[in-house]
Amino acid sequence: MSNLSLRERDAAAIAQIGKLRFSPLSVVGGKGNRLIEEGGRSLLDLSGSAGPAILGYGHPAIVEAVEGSIRDMAGASLLLYPNEPAVSLAERLLAITPGDGERRVWFGHSGSDANDCAVRVLRAATGRSRFISFIGSYHGNLSGSMGISGHTAMTHTLPRAGVVLLPYPDPYRPKFNGEDVLALLDYQFETTCPPHQVAAVFIEPLMSDGGLIVPPPGFLKALQERCRKHGIRIVVDEVKVGLARSGMMHCFQHEGLTPDLVVFGKGIGGGLPLSAVVGPKEIMDHAPAFALQTTAGNPVATSAGNAVLKTIESEGLVERSARTGKLFSEALRTLGEKHEIIGDVRGRGLAIGVDLVKDRATREPVAATTTAKIIYRGYELGAAFSYVGLKANVLEFMPPLTLTEGEVADGIAIIDQAIADVNAGKVSDADVASFMMW
Ligand SMILES: *Cc1c(COP(=O)(O)O)cnc(C)c1O
Repeated sequence: MSNLSLRERDAAAIAQIGKLRFSPLSVVGGKGNRLIEEGGRSLLDLSGSAGPAILGYGHPAIVEAVEGSIRDMAGASLLLYPNEPAVSLAERLLAITPGDGERRVWFGHSGSDANDCAVRVLRAATGRSRFISFIGSYHGNLSGSMGISGHTAMTHTLPRAGVVLLPYPDPYRPKFNGEDVLALLDYQFETTCPPHQVAAVFIEPLMSDGGLIVPPPGFLKALQERCRKHGIRIVVDEVKVGLARSGMMHCFQHEGLTPDLVVFGKGIGGGLPLSAVVGPKEIMDHAPAFALQTTAGNPVATSAGNAVLKTIESEGLVERSARTGKLFSEALRTLGEKHEIIGDVRGRGLAIGVDLVKDRATREPVAATTTAKIIYRGYELGAAFSYVGLKANVLEFMPPLTLTEGEVADGIAIIDQAIADVNAGKVSDADVASFMMW
C-alpha cells in the first residue's frame, strides 16, 4: 500500500461517479490560500475546492469554532434537541437575507439536499407540481435537485416530470436573448404548462457550472415579475455564488430580485458539510418529516457556518471580494490582449469565467482538450483551477475570498504562462487523457 501514490490508491478505492478530476493534483494539506500536494509542493488555489473553501484552508476562525464545538459537543443532531450554534446560525441567516413576513431556516449537508428539500416542500405546500428551471443549470445530484437541473452532463437522468427547462440567455453567444426566453415562457403558460400548476422557478443568479454566465441586466427581474403574477414562487440558488463571493452579500442583489426561498451551500460551511434554505414559514413548516436528516444542523458544522458569517463581516469580505475580483478580471482581460484564445472574461466578484474560443469572430468554443491542457499546465506551474461550461471551454476561478492582491498577480503570471506553453505545444493529448471531465 505504502509505495503507491495517493492518486493510485484513490483510483483503486474511490468510485469514479463521485469525481471530477482536472489535473494530477492530490492533496495532503492546505494553508491559507494554498493547497499542499503529496510530496510537499504548495499550489495557489484558484478553485476554492469548487467553492466551499470560501476562507481558504485552516482559517483560524474556523479552526477555533470547530475545535471548540467538538470538544464540548452540544449533541450531534438538530432533530431531538436545539443546539446553540444551529440556532445562532439560523438567526444570522434570517438577519442577512432580505425577505418579508415570518421566515424559517432549514439545515442540510449540501447544495443538493437543500435544493431537494426546496422542491419537495414547495410541491407539497403549494399543491402545484410543476417547476421552471434552465438548460445548463446545476442544482444538485439527488433525485429532486437533479430532476430540476439542466446540465448536459446529466442527460443520463431525465428531468422530473412537469419541469420546463428554458434557455438561459447568454449575452456572449446570444442564441436566445432575454425577450426570446420570456416569450417562450409565455407560450408555455398559454399551452402545455398552465401557470397555476407551477410551484416555483429555480434561478441561478449567475449560471455557474453551465459556464459562468451573467444574465443580461433586467432579465431575471422580468422573469420574477412574470412568475409572481401567477403566484409562482421564486427560488434563488446561491449555493456557489452567494455569501460575499459575487461582491455583494447575495448574488441576487445585483439583479434586484426578491426571492421567496434562498438556498445556501458550499461556502456556508467553510469546507464542512452544511447547507441551508431560508423561506416563508408557511412553506418551510408545511409538515414534519419532510426533510429529516439526523446530523443536519449538528453543532460542529453550524459552528463553522457561524465562523464563516462572522468572518465575512469582520474581514469585510463583501467589499474585498468585489475589489479583488475586479483586479483579477481586469488582469485576465489584459491577458486577452495577447492571447487570442481568450474570447470573454466575465463574472461577478470572485466568481470569474474565462471563455476560451477557437476564433474570436465566430466565438466557437475550443475543444475540451485545449481547456484541459491549460489546467494541466497551470497545475505544473503551481496553481489549481478547473473548468465549467456545457462545451467544457470555460476556465473557472472561484478562489478563497481571502485571496490577496499579490496572489492575484502570481495567479495571473501562471495562467499567462500556461496558455503560452499550451500554444507552444508543451502539453500532449496523452498528458490530459485521464482528466477530461464534465
Ligand atoms: C454545487 C452546486 C449545487 C450542489 O451542491 P453540492 O454541495 O455539490 O450538493 C447546487 N447548486 C449550485 C448552483 C451549485 O453550484
